[in-house]
Amino acid sequence: MFFTGTRSKTAVNSAQAIAAGIAADGGLFVPESFPRITSEEFAQLAQADYRTRAEKVLSLYLTDYSPEELRHCVDGAYCGTFDNDQPAPLADIGENRRMLELWHGPTCAFKDLALQILPYLLTTALNKDASERTAVILVATSGDTGKAALAGFADVKNTRIIVFYPRDGVSDMQKLQMTTQKGNNVTVCAIEGNFDDAQSGVKAIFTDAEMRAFLADKGMEFSSANSINFGRLVPQIVYYVSAYCDLLKDGSIASGEQFNVVVPTGNFGNILAAVYAKQMGVPIKKFICASNENNVLTDFIRTGIYDRNRQFHTTESPSMDILISSNLERYLYLLSGGDAGLTAGFMDDLKTSGKYEITAEMKSQMQAEFFGGCCDDAAGRAAIAKIFRERNYLCDTHTAVALAVCDEYRKSSGDETLCVIASTASPYKFAPAVLKALTDEPLPADDFAKLEMLSGISGTPIPAALAALRGENVRHKSCIAKEIMAEFIKNSLA
Ligand SMILES: *Cc1c(COP(=O)(O)O)cnc(C)c1O
Repeated sequence: MFFTGTRSKTAVNSAQAIAAGIAADGGLFVPESFPRITSEEFAQLAQADYRTRAEKVLSLYLTDYSPEELRHCVDGAYCGTFDNDQPAPLADIGENRRMLELWHGPTCAFKDLALQILPYLLTTALNKDASERTAVILVATSGDTGKAALAGFADVKNTRIIVFYPRDGVSDMQKLQMTTQKGNNVTVCAIEGNFDDAQSGVKAIFTDAEMRAFLADKGMEFSSANSINFGRLVPQIVYYVSAYCDLLKDGSIASGEQFNVVVPTGNFGNILAAVYAKQMGVPIKKFICASNENNVLTDFIRTGIYDRNRQFHTTESPSMDILISSNLERYLYLLSGGDAGLTAGFMDDLKTSGKYEITAEMKSQMQAEFFGGCCDDAAGRAAIAKIFRERNYLCDTHTAVALAVCDEYRKSSGDETLCVIASTASPYKFAPAVLKALTDEPLPADDFAKLEMLSGISGTPIPAALAALRGENVRHKSCIAKEIMAEFIKNSLA
């Protein structure tokens, strides 16, 4: 299988795509075609465990990895790292809805599903050409990617990892998770700006010729752990395949019977993985794209016009506080029938005017398979309170946005098809906001007392990984202006 760029044709293999992270012209790598899984194979996978399902999906894209290499990657990532060795269990929450719980990993967010395996995929890729290069992983994070990438890459040989997060744009628990990170190869730095500033800065540095030369001199090269890296998308396809297999296995649906997916969306990586899963044969009817007040995608799906020229909101679902959804580029490429020139044009317009409009054809195809909806913090809190009251189910602020939009979709469309809702984070990562939804009691000042309060109210345990942060030293205290990110990187690599 070869991969091409979204902005110009190239042909690289999967190891090259994963090692590079992004194409030299700033485009993203996409598979030249989509492999299919047959209904017989789905029936077999339904009886298999998560790791077997993962190996199957990965083997279809990463054709230049040997079966032994893939097994090594999958076992390292998913054996003993997730609660009960179940990375993506489905929970029945009634009314023909299932929660796809993606937060049972070491950092309590769905990013673990991909970032536990990416270090294995990347180091395997680097070993393939036997050069002793060091991969410098640059990460821009809205909170969860940073910690999940740090957890995956800490002390991994031949890698350095540098994480930038928006100083005022992450939850206290997310910040603590990152600033206490141990490891000899890790750097964590706050920037004065929002996530889009961090992401744009990182993207610019990636493609900057001078920075690339600076690294090459040191036997280093940049790579990315952000969802622009194809190596993050494939593992995300796996859990949609796995969800379908679980639904088949427990008889919730018949072979080939369609279901809807609802995804709380920021950078469009998670929902794009669902789109790719459908290309492979998973019978998904509607992609329901849920946004918070940063509803640029809702408007885009309704109008075909992407316009980031609007106020940025800091919300209680900070991992979705994004106005430039990077992975949408891959969907545009797919919608355009693989037209790199057209896709490059949209991205050019976005860069120069903050805005673009897709063709009428693309728009009608998108609207046939997508529904976009959004809600504010108050509606999110109402969703948290409702599902807890009615089903005794505790969910986080991002998942709450998906729940609220799922409701809106069903009311407006009358479509009651089974919905799989991506549950993207543990509620304990966002305890203050979740508590606010559940009680009028005043909250204790201490972060860990808040976790205990949430545990008391809900009768659910505090995740061990979060409880363990108590008393950890803050090791990373840098905070810089976004203009000096490149300089900061040079200094930390010197
Ligand atoms: C990253 C993240 C999202 C958004 O996912 P995208 O792939 O960026 O659309 C939603 N919820 C949580 C908790 C996240 O960490």
